[in-house]
Amino acid sequence: MGPGTNNLQVRKINRNRVFRYINSVEKTSMPEIASALRMSTPTVLGVVKELLKEGIVEEVGEFGSTGGRKAKAYAARKDTRYSIGVDLTKNHVGITYTDFTQQAKCHERVYKPFEDTADYFQEVARLIRKFVEENQIDQDKILGMAMAVPGIVDEERGMITASHALGIHGVSLDKWKDYLPYPCKFTNDANAAAIAECAVSDIQGNMLYLLLSNTVGGAARMQTLNGGEGLKPRLYLGDNWRSCEFGHMVIRPEGNRCYCGKIGCLDTYCSALRLAEQTEGNLERFFVEMEEGNEKYRRIFAKYLDDLTIAVDNLRMQFDCRVILGGYVGCYLEPYIHVLQEKMRERDIFGSSGDYVMACRSRKEASALGGAVLVMEEYLESV
Ligand SMILES: [Zn+2]
Repeated sequence: MGPGTNNLQVRKINRNRVFRYINSVEKTSMPEIASALRMSTPTVLGVVKELLKEGIVEEVGEFGSTGGRKAKAYAARKDTRYSIGVDLTKNHVGITYTDFTQQAKCHERVYKPFEDTADYFQEVARLIRKFVEENQIDQDKILGMAMAVPGIVDEERGMITASHALGIHGVSLDKWKDYLPYPCKFTNDANAAAIAECAVSDIQGNMLYLLLSNTVGGAARMQTLNGGEGLKPRLYLGDNWRSCEFGHMVIRPEGNRCYCGKIGCLDTYCSALRLAEQTEGNLERFFVEMEEGNEKYRRIFAKYLDDLTIAVDNLRMQFDCRVILGGYVGCYLEPYIHVLQEKMRERDIFGSSGDYVMACRSRKEASALGGAVLVMEEYLESV
């Protein structure tokens, strides 16, 4: 802790560390917390008493005796609060919710083509209310919601400055908020998916997330020195909320024209459409038929992996950290990841084994879950 840290701040930090520890395990005891966090027993005792009184931690029996008095077991009440995450895409609305576990409790995807109209947002609000009702989520426990959007979200000015996928530019988010049933934050869909991946896979350090959906985007979570709290990873957002637009890195200067106007962007080679266009938009069918022996699909996929290799190698050279492949295609890559890792190894000038590239583990409604985690994380930070 820095020299400027006063007693009140120390108390707050200790309280949060104790709570986070209890929340990270199924159940624990006072001596175990004190030992894991290297805190004095009276400090831990004081915090646990507070958390018990507030009802966010509860007593759940006793641990077996090791000779002396039996230690009481404590656990976080994971269902004390809920948050809702919504993912808006060109054609669908995805909804999920989470609790202290930061895992998806349930999710739903509804076909609903986007329109920037009152009717559309009234319908989205109705879907959210229906979802809350059907899952019997206690209204009083809902902290709020976050909405992930495929576009540049300026969170400071509360605007979507541009979204190619939704076909909108310079849209104020305030008018959308008015229709929604809960206080709502907005975030970029790739950033949200990266947040979900970190929660699901329990990733602690630096990471890049390459979103391979119908457009290609990305996110970067970077560790920086943060006051007295040590290394705390944060999303890197850029000067204009346009960081990590990996889809518009040029990988083939003599190549195809991208929708952005440039020639040879990664997006034109590695979007999910490049595979799904073979099977009338059905990506699952592409992988199934390829596995059944479709030679043409095998060649297309091999070429896809070649292009992906160039991009991932470039990212590794710039950021020197793990690269997670997510989005629609990322969900199908686990069986082929060793092929990709071998390709990365061959290119790596620093002799890495290539195992820094991984397929995503958060595969269902990742962006929606990321939104829910964003809201929940803010609450957990405040405990
Ligand atoms: Zn482009």
